[in-house]
Amino acid sequence: MDSSKSKDSTNSGLQETNSDINDEEKNDLCPGFKDADAFVKYGLGAVLSATKASAGLPQTGDEYDFYRSFPGFQEFCESQGDKLLHCMSQIMQHHGCRSRMRDRNKLTGLEERFDLVVDSNDVILERVGILLDEADGVNRNQQPVMPAEFQPPKIVVSSWNRMGSSSGSRSETFRLLQAKNIARPQMKFKEKVDNSNTPFIPKIFIKPNAVKPLPSCKLLLTLMFFPSVRPEDLDVPAALADFIHQQRTQEHVEDMFAHPYQYELDHLTIQESVLSKPEPQMYKPLTETKCSFIDTLDDLVALNEKLCKLSEFAVDLEHHSYRSFLGLTCLIQISSREEDFIIDAIELRSELYILNEAFTDPAIVKVFHGADSDIEWLQRDFGLYVVNLFDTHQASRALNLARHSLDQLLKHFCNVNSEKRYQLADWRIRPLPDEMVQYARMDTHYLLYIYDCVRVQLLDFNHGQPGLLQSVWNKSKDISLKKYTKPIFTEESYLELQRKQKRSFNTQQLTAFRLLFAWRDKLARQEDESTGFTLPTHMMNKISEELPKEPQGIIACCNPVPPLVRQQVNELHLLVQQAREMPLLKVIKELHSSIYIQTYLCCPPNYMFECS
Ligand code: AMP
Ligand code: MN
Ligand code: ZN
Repeated sequence: MDSSKSKDSTNSGLQETNSDINDEEKNDLCPGFKDADAFVKYGLGAVLSATKASAGLPQTGDEYDFYRSFPGFQEFCESQGDKLLHCMSQIMQHHGCRSRMRDRNKLTGLEERFDLVVDSNDVILERVGILLDEADGVNRNQQPVMPAEFQPPKIVVSSWNRMGSSSGSRSETFRLLQAKNIARPQMKFKEKVDNSNTPFIPKIFIKPNAVKPLPSCKLLLTLMFFPSVRPEDLDVPAALADFIHQQRTQEHVEDMFAHPYQYELDHLTIQESVLSKPEPQMYKPLTETKCSFIDTLDDLVALNEKLCKLSEFAVDLEHHSYRSFLGLTCLIQISSREEDFIIDAIELRSELYILNEAFTDPAIVKVFHGADSDIEWLQRDFGLYVVNLFDTHQASRALNLARHSLDQLLKHFCNVNSEKRYQLADWRIRPLPDEMVQYARMDTHYLLYIYDCVRVQLLDFNHGQPGLLQSVWNKSKDISLKKYTKPIFTEESYLELQRKQKRSFNTQQLTAFRLLFAWRDKLARQEDESTGFTLPTHMMNKISEELPKEPQGIIACCNPVPPLVRQQVNELHLLVQQAREMPLLKVIKELHSSIYIQTYLCCPPNYMFECS
């Protein structure tokens, strides 16, 4: 579906559909197929079997290296790999995407190939989005592109005025797919999101199960809210000023950013009981298990009390990242051996810290699958920490299972086929459709049984010795020690992205890229949107490459035009103009260049330019 090139033919195709069409004309649209549906069905089948086949391949780091030692396998892989690359490159060319490798180096080339695929996916999916919108009538009345200086934008796209936006007539199924009509949950947050370009400070003020107490709470607050205040400027008695001054040693500043449960985790000993062989306790059938949706403080308090009495429970999170700068946790799923709970983490965002009582209790095992992101999200959104974590993903790795996804463990141990249909769904939707509740619940319902099974296997694998199981506990502990860090913008951030892309920009293009990058970061923080929503990277590249002379040119680089780009096209145009004023030099990265100009772009010294 190439919207720019095939728009005419698509339209005429539609007209034909409206008038009387015969089967031959239908066949023109999808040659060899009865109709579009038949074609789609066939296509999906092919995609599905390809995905299955690729999932079945041995994984790098596991069996792959072993298989590769056979020349036959190696040759086959290489020829198939070339075939696939050729095929992908043809698809990209067909869609008018960049498909050429700039870098033929085998090692770094892989990274570039990956970027190419990501870029092309973006472009193709966006076109699909536009065409779906068109079919749905969304764009029917879209205004022709006009220089924005002649007309103030009619729709003010600002994160704070979105409540109750036109969700009216949309059906439930449509909302499942489309994120754009969902009211921004950020509006309901009691504590405003802190997108400032400053390091993350742990959000914890009460520390249950503490062995080492938090650094003095008052001091923490003073430092947090008045970091530039000198104690002598405070209207406090001299002795207190002295005290504050003393306390504000580097050590205390470090304390403030430290992992609040570092000490407890460093001193955590694994209980004997979890190192011995368990008798796996079968999960209860889903249909016989109570599932509660928790969205009130009372229910949350009751849940916390229940959890505190258990010896283990399973946890998983669902997250949203497109319409928020830092991302937001939408759901927390918890399962005990008896019950499932789905917590509305948007509604209870500022109350969830109370779960620290159970989450940091060293006597209660918390079972997660692939907890790396979960641990960071819990800290970032709720100030929640986990002491005594068991990560079944780490167990799967230690057991050298063929694949380590939860689907695979569910299939292997529970003979349950889970569909990852909603993995990328918009979890902000409320009320949460029942299908999504059921889906979310599957992620924790079976996990305690899997925890039992993998412990048995880890011990059997090691002839009853606890070493391997112990290593999984240790790896899990390392994950719970992870600290959330906020994305920090520096004058050089754009270079990191630019380097990854390996595009050769001249000085003007690189300047545009730098300015657009800074604009995007600033606006995304301010509007609390992701950088991908604000201005996708491939559009930023296109604008930088083309350096349009007119605001319309900027609009033309973007398809579809991101709302914030449309709104600020004049600012963007000024930035591009500023970039065009740079002396035109070709940027090269090798050090054998003739001319070395560092000052223009404030580049680090390994960036070199030559006259073009
Ligand atoms: P899970 O642990 O599989 O339930 O995933 C938790 C969250 O991670 C989901 O709600 C998504 O926001 C995100 N996520 C999971 N898988 C992917 C993926 N393949 N690509 C992007 N985001 C993902
Ligand atoms: Mn998860
Ligand atoms: Zn999940």
